[in-house]
Amino acid sequence: MTTFTCALNPARIVFGAGKRSAVASELDRLGVTRALVLSTPFQKADAEALAAELGALAAGVFAHAAMHTPVEVTQTAMAAYAAAGADGVVALGGGSTIGLGKAIAYRNDCPQLVVATTYAGSEVTPILGQTENGVKTTVRAGSILPETVIYDPDLTLGLPVGMSVTSGLNAMAHAVEGVYAQDRNPIAAMMAVEGVRALRDALPAIVRTPADAAARGAALYGAWLCGTVLGSVGMALHHKLCHTLGGSFDLPHAETHSVMLPHTAAYNAGAAKTALQPLADLFGGDLGAGLWQFAKDLGAPMSLRDLGLEETDLDRAADLAVQNPYWNPRPVERDAIRALLGRAWEGVPPE
Ligand code: NAD
Repeated sequence: MTTFTCALNPARIVFGAGKRSAVASELDRLGVTRALVLSTPFQKADAEALAAELGALAAGVFAHAAMHTPVEVTQTAMAAYAAAGADGVVALGGGSTIGLGKAIAYRNDCPQLVVATTYAGSEVTPILGQTENGVKTTVRAGSILPETVIYDPDLTLGLPVGMSVTSGLNAMAHAVEGVYAQDRNPIAAMMAVEGVRALRDALPAIVRTPADAAARGAALYGAWLCGTVLGSVGMALHHKLCHTLGGSFDLPHAETHSVMLPHTAAYNAGAAKTALQPLADLFGGDLGAGLWQFAKDLGAPMSLRDLGLEETDLDRAADLAVQNPYWNPRPVERDAIRALLGRAWEGVPPE
């Protein structure tokens, strides 16, 4: 018999092609009468189009969301929120924009509606990472979890192929760590396997035909499941390594997850054999090698060298990664981690 505790997050999920048209009725459901629409500068035109559709329900557009949720940007957004007389936010975008919506809600507990356009999964977690003076800190709170998430695959048809691939592998990383998490549970494990299966089938189809509506729908469905796993159970070595590489060496988020995943899956393969078996079965029996080949076939970046990490940084990265380690099924040993990072830096298959 398995003993477990399972606490799923209470978000409302609205999923389907064309569902961006439900933003107004969903805001109404939340009791929001004037929503500040958030985006990055890159998605400003989409945010403005959404605000125009919302009419009087939109309090304005704030299109300055940035990677790693800088506190200065949040402060400017809080001022814009107050000046516009807003009583809620709509975050249209990926993890960066969603991070800004969460940062606002963390400070004023306003309702959040997210229209998610990448596969990173932040929209279904009560976790906020923010940066101040170059230092990233993570907080967890009920107010951070968005109340409503709309997934409209039509809005992902234009997500560039390279980003679709790395973002999809980022999502898979949540699921891989979810099945062997210290606080794992059977529901999260089912979602993890189903999420990885959906993305395994969808990503090659998206690479072949980026506007394949069915594949885009399947990928977003997989991303939702994998994100829900991230929000439900603790993460381990893989996320620790990616946080170290992103936080201390400024490596890009999704690409770093994508390079590291085969190596961390291989590192934990023996120690978490039973938990990982259903995922290994999806990739020909050997999860690390299978994921490495899968990523390569998709044209994903394969090495930390290509992401800009210097070979001379590897020792420090290994030292940092073993400090305050997250719980992991296999002991986190400095020399083994240095070897893993060396292979990931070179871009060779995991051992
Ligand atoms: P992102 O939000 O930074 O987006 C990257 C770029 O792609 C942006 O310019 C964005 O506007 C653009 N973009 C997004 N969707 C698009 C679309 N459909 N079409 C065209 N362009 C589009 O990238 P991300 O990987 O989603 O998020 C990364 C950030 O999210 C990191 O800061 C990471 O730490 C955070 N994150 C947080 C959590 C959490 O639970 N707190 C989970 C995952 C990621």
